[in-house]
Amino acid sequence: MEKVQLRNSSAVKTPCYLYDLELLDSTLQAINAESTSHANYHVHYAIKANANPRVLQRIAAAGLGADCVSGGEIEVALKAGFPAKEIVFAGVGKADWEIRLALEKEIGMFNVESVEELQVINEIATSLNIRARVSFRINPDVGAHTHAHITTGRAEDKFGIDMEDMVKVIRMAESMPLVDFTGLHFHIGSQLLEMDDFQALCVRVNELQAVLVREGLFAPNINVGGGLGIDYDAPDAHPIPDFQAYFDTFRRGLQLREGQQVHFELGRAVVAQMGSLLTRVLYVKHGKQKRFVIVDAGFTELIRPAFYGALHAIQNLSVPAGKPIYTYDVVGPICESSDTFARDYALPETRRGDLLLFRSAGAYGETMSSQYNCRPLPATYTTDDIQNLA
Ligand SMILES: *Cc1c(COP(=O)(O)O)cnc(C)c1O
Repeated sequence: MEKVQLRNSSAVKTPCYLYDLELLDSTLQAINAESTSHANYHVHYAIKANANPRVLQRIAAAGLGADCVSGGEIEVALKAGFPAKEIVFAGVGKADWEIRLALEKEIGMFNVESVEELQVINEIATSLNIRARVSFRINPDVGAHTHAHITTGRAEDKFGIDMEDMVKVIRMAESMPLVDFTGLHFHIGSQLLEMDDFQALCVRVNELQAVLVREGLFAPNINVGGGLGIDYDAPDAHPIPDFQAYFDTFRRGLQLREGQQVHFELGRAVVAQMGSLLTRVLYVKHGKQKRFVIVDAGFTELIRPAFYGALHAIQNLSVPAGKPIYTYDVVGPICESSDTFARDYALPETRRGDLLLFRSAGAYGETMSSQYNCRPLPATYTTDDIQNLA
């Protein structure tokens, strides 16, 4: 790994991601401390949150499984050391090659999102003569208190199978010789901070299980998805999410049947706080009404503000404490007005060359980066470098 001296900062190539692997390890320990006391709990890390190989290796080594939403993610998960049996595969639009790959690698289970997909899995499984284990992603029609772009569990969302069709699709799967029905899957949204949302999911899961019992059906696996949020406003106050409250909500809320396994798919909660995006100030522009801080990172490195209206905490690393505070619009260099990180944000007096840190950028930062405007993809540095910042 390249070593950077952030104090003598001209050596640092910005923008770049900084990953605190020690915080990642503490976060993984906190997850395991809450989940491993339940022999039937299985946590799968959602690869799409951060697929950096060094990050994935740490997570695999901690014993988590993987939640994949593409064939590419299945490949990187296997490469990072996640056991195939601990991989679950979701997504509304699985391509034939991705289904084939998942079958050949013998992943744990598919989370199937439509009858049409079930039929294609059955055809491909039959042609390969490999058994397919399928759970059904049920749309629980539970509204979650989060941004409209990241709620996924309401009736009008594109994800999953309608609750009314649940029994029909299970019976269909059971009629297919090479398909094994393995359970139910849910995922109601992302950046959820209210345990009430997860409690509402538990209530719905219990209702659906009662329907299964009446029909003489059994779901060996209940997968409640991911979505646990993090504190974007105060990352230092809450570096590790409240996993105890999260797992307790399911422990109390779910009425499980004998032998049932419970699966979780946490993404953001595992990796968001361990990552920051480091950027350098190119210009401080004094407009008529406003001061603009123009930085060398854009939505190409961190798209959440442009995409979801998200606000990441910003720190100026170059200014000592006690300097006067001004408000700035912090913007990137991309030729789109949405390339804005914050408006009227309070920062100490900022100058060209200062280093700024966008916090909580470990999830959906690097994985959503792009080369728009022919920009190069940024480098990634880990823990030792971050310690030099203190
Ligand atoms: C994205 C996703 C997750 C992870 O969501 P987070 O909000 O990052 O926890 C889990 N399951 C599925 C099916 C997903 O699509």
